[in-house]
Amino acid sequence: MSNTARQQQLHDIIKEKLRPHVRQIDAEGQYPLGYLQALGEAGLYDADGSEPGRSIRDRVRLIEMTAQTCLTSAFNIWCHLAAVTYVGTSDNERLKQEVLPGLLDGRLRGGTGLSNPMKYYAGLDQLYLKAEPDGEGGYRLQGTLPMVSNLGEDHWFAAVAETADHERIVFFLPCTAQGLHRTERVGYLGLNGSATYACVFNQVEAGEQWVLSQDADSWIRQVRSIFILYQIPLGLGLVNACIETMRKSAAIQGGCSQYLAVQPEHLEEALIQLRERTYMLAVSPSLSASWSEVLKLRLQTVHLTLQAAQAAMLFQGSAGYQQNSGPARRLREAYFYANLTPSVRHLEKLNRLLSNQDQGNVTIGQ
Ligand SMILES: Cc1cc2nc3c(=O)[nH]c(=O)nc-3n(C[C@H](O)[C@H](O)[C@H](O)COP(=O)(O)OP(=O)(O)OC[C@H]3O[C@@H](n4cnc5c(N)ncnc54)[C@H](O)[C@@H]3O)c2cc1C
Repeated sequence: MSNTARQQQLHDIIKEKLRPHVRQIDAEGQYPLGYLQALGEAGLYDADGSEPGRSIRDRVRLIEMTAQTCLTSAFNIWCHLAAVTYVGTSDNERLKQEVLPGLLDGRLRGGTGLSNPMKYYAGLDQLYLKAEPDGEGGYRLQGTLPMVSNLGEDHWFAAVAETADHERIVFFLPCTAQGLHRTERVGYLGLNGSATYACVFNQVEAGEQWVLSQDADSWIRQVRSIFILYQIPLGLGLVNACIETMRKSAAIQGGCSQYLAVQPEHLEEALIQLRERTYMLAVSPSLSASWSEVLKLRLQTVHLTLQAAQAAMLFQGSAGYQQNSGPARRLREAYFYANLTPSVRHLEKLNRLLSNQDQGNVTIGQ
């Protein structure tokens, strides 16, 4: 399918399956299942191998276009595509044959419980899951992951657990695994439609068939750039939506908003630059080597997103201060984006360490 046809198809699905439900997703915590399934049925999660890097670029665009309309749904897609990447790049042929096709065509959905390992590798936290070998190539898992999104009955997700010998293993397991207890978490400022659960592992039998990698330390280096690259379009789409709001409300009170410090053209200029760098990285053959650039870009996108969400609110005035207004939702979405691992403080730490490392001062353990 041509690039233009693919974009038109996405545009139509957003219009028909997402836009009418945004209010319920945000205000009532409705999970956007119909939209997520429709994308899979249309083949929009699938990799198009016709040009190198094209599949990553198309997925970045899918997340960006969705985030322009609804960050919750775009975040669910991010979770799903992270999971698709984990399985697609693993050596586990069984998962590739039995689970990956369902993830790609929309029958199954995927999540990623990697916040805790990401924080562990940055020296911010300990690992929450323990793995005990079962003597048959598998493990028994014990512990709790406090928040994992995009979960449900037809869903799988990735998790990292550590053995008593300090080996770290990555698993990809179904939500129906015996001994896994999920409790839905709602009551957040936003993103309540993201199907987020606390996951308690009570002696979960994770057989060899669910092992993505026996060496999580190396595996994480392979996937971390793409994990974070796919987060950047969440912010790009959100900024674009804020700019649109500002332009639409520019004439209020005789155009008085022109005196505000942040104007749509300032945001647009910054957005164009961030977007260009993001799409260049997406088609880059050396994406996994671009770790520091991906981190920098993600941090700059967070700052622009927070600035844009505030500017849109100020442009709209009291109409924006209504509970269900677009600017109010985007402000809540922007704060989620700043707290999503790697959170803004986590990113500031990594950027500082990496710039010190460039000067030869510090070695970070990842
Ligand atoms: C809606 C939503 C969806 C998420 N989805 C995922 C996901 O799919 N996968 C994933 O791995 N992570 C997910 N997360 C986690 C997220 O990515 C970040 O890790 C998290 O928001 C970062 O929080 P933090 O920096 O405060 O660190 P945290 O490690 O969460 O918290 C730091 C400290 O605060 C304490 N703390 C945390 N919450 C509370 C509380 N409610 N009350 C009191 N103390 C508390 C903790 O014990 C810890 O000591 C999700 C978070 C949210 C809000």
